[in-house]
Order: sequence, then structure tokens, then C-alpha cells
Amino acid sequence: MDDCIFCKIIKKEIPGTIRHEDEHCLAFDDIHPKSRIHILLVPKKHIATIADLEEGDELVIGHLVKIAKELAKKFECKGYQLVFNVGKEAGQIVFHVHLHLLGN
Ligand code: 5GP
Ligand code: ZN
Repeated sequence: MDDCIFCKIIKKEIPGTIRHEDEHCLAFDDIHPKSRIHILLVPKKHIATIADLEEGDELVIGHLVKIAKELAKKFECKGYQLVFNVGKEAGQIVFHVHLHLLGN
């Protein structure tokens, strides 16, 4: 998606503090952190919201959770929240699926 900010970070067209990258996903710091650790995990495939998942996309969503768990351990989070905001009424402002890792 040409006008998607997270696709631009994935393509390295705009900078981000990258914490993890593999074939399927990218993880980078949220620009406005809401806790000590605030990392966004995004599939490399552009999917607008969780509500738009198609058959097979659940694999990458499971992968995001696995990587989030590993990053929480790496950054020594005592506890953490994993959050998907789905839809503008729930506060979603970037329409490329992302998992918030909020750790303390
Ligand atoms: P949402 O409310 O859509 O679930 O969360 C979007 C998140 O993306 C927000 O926490 C916001 O701070 C973050 N964000 C928005 N634009 C950028 C950006 O250009 N770079 C980074 N690293 N984070 C961004
Ligand atoms: Zn995108």
C-alpha cells in the first residue's frame, strides 16, 4: 500500500528503531511509547485490520505473538500487555495490522 506508514517502515523508506526482522514480520519501537517497552509488531503483508484477516493469515498473527514473547524476554519485561486495536472506534489510527507489546 503506497500511502501506508508501516509499509514504508517495512520497505525502509522511513526510519524506525527496528528490534526484530524476519521473512514474515518487522518489530520496531512505537514513536510515542506508552510504557518502558512499547514495540509494534507488524506482518510484512499489508492487512488493514484484524477484521480483514483472510484464510491463512492466522499463521502470521500467531507468529507476531511468538516474537512478542521473545522480545518481552529479551527486554526483561516483568509483565506485559499484547494489544490489537481493531477499528477507529477502538482507537486504531494506523490501518496496517499491528500488535502492541507494552512492557514494564
Ligand atoms: P493504533 O492506535 O493504530 O493501534 O496504534 C498506532 C501506533 O503507531 C501509535 O501508538 C503511534 O504512536 C504509532 N505510530 C504512528 N506513526 C508512527 C510512525 O511513523 N513510526 C512509529 N514508529 N510509530 C508510529
Ligand atoms: Zn501497510
